[in-house]
Amino acid sequence: MTVREITRYLDSIAPPAYQESYDNSGLLVGNPDAEIKSVITCLDVTEEVIQEAIDKGAGMIVSHHPIIFGGLKRLTGKNYVERTVMMAIKNDIALYAIHTNLDNVEHGVNARLSERLGLKDTRILMPKGGMLRKLITFVPTKNVDEVLEALFAAGAGHVGAYDECSFRSEGVGTFRGDETTNPHVGEVGKRHSEDESRVEVILSFDKSSEVLSALKSAHPYEEVAWDMLKLENSLQTVGSGMVGELEEEMAASDFLAYLQNIVGGGVRYTQLIKDKVKRIAVCGGSGSFALGAAISAGADVFVTADFKYHQFFDADGQIVIADIGHFESEQFTIDLLYDAIREKFPNFATFKTAVNTNPILYL
Ligand SMILES: [Zn+2]
Repeated sequence: MTVREITRYLDSIAPPAYQESYDNSGLLVGNPDAEIKSVITCLDVTEEVIQEAIDKGAGMIVSHHPIIFGGLKRLTGKNYVERTVMMAIKNDIALYAIHTNLDNVEHGVNARLSERLGLKDTRILMPKGGMLRKLITFVPTKNVDEVLEALFAAGAGHVGAYDECSFRSEGVGTFRGDETTNPHVGEVGKRHSEDESRVEVILSFDKSSEVLSALKSAHPYEEVAWDMLKLENSLQTVGSGMVGELEEEMAASDFLAYLQNIVGGGVRYTQLIKDKVKRIAVCGGSGSFALGAAISAGADVFVTADFKYHQFFDADGQIVIADIGHFESEQFTIDLLYDAIREKFPNFATFKTAVNTNPILYL
């Protein structure tokens, strides 16, 4: 197995293009063509985790948090980040991070947390805007099917649970080629009118170049007319947090005990404003930015981490904030990554880290 085979697969389940602008997901250390015998999944890369990889003969570590985050200007070993990176390089261990891109997909960090909490009918809490594009192109009517086929195969035409979505309307296109052209129909130097269809499909922005090259190879014309528009519509399957429902409503205090039992650590929470709770919003990691969305979604409780003192006041009698701790809210991601790699490469040695990297201790 090469490092690239693993990264290519992980990129397919959480496309790097879905990461937030401040993030640094992807292959951070290592040669993509290096052969590896096994991989370790973890939340954080520390010197202890690198040592574990050395002991197990693992050539690659897949972590949720990127060890190189804000950029490194020198490697002198003066802090744990530099020492960890140096130790990985010295021992030929590749480091790959799958961070906010895994937060943002519908089978990612928050799906796993929701599943552990037994939430049903889950959906993305804050679908991401600016991700969708519309491609409009003009195709000779008799060639529409083959062009559509190519666009769908390249990943265009997905709307919710539907695929192969498109729209067409009929019209007439005109063109005139100069003496350097070789038009598919019509004569050089003469205006030609052709029965054409205006074909529209929707796509995610990260598919733009694949879809455009599919269009250009399937379209019969030398010069293909197309428009690519950025849409304001949100992509419902990509974004932060999740919201879902408990199977049965629970007494608010019972839910907190249930939550603590599943995630461990220590739950910090705001006033229980209702006796019963059913709709639960979750956002693994630092989720205070999603509080407004959790309130708008009508959630009774918002399960997240990294709230500061003054931010707890923002619950404001509208929701219960349950801050379960950053590590605790993302701990199931270690299993998620392990399960994903195991399922795809069942004969390859995959390990979950045995190191508890949580830097926070509780009394
Ligand atoms: Zn995190």
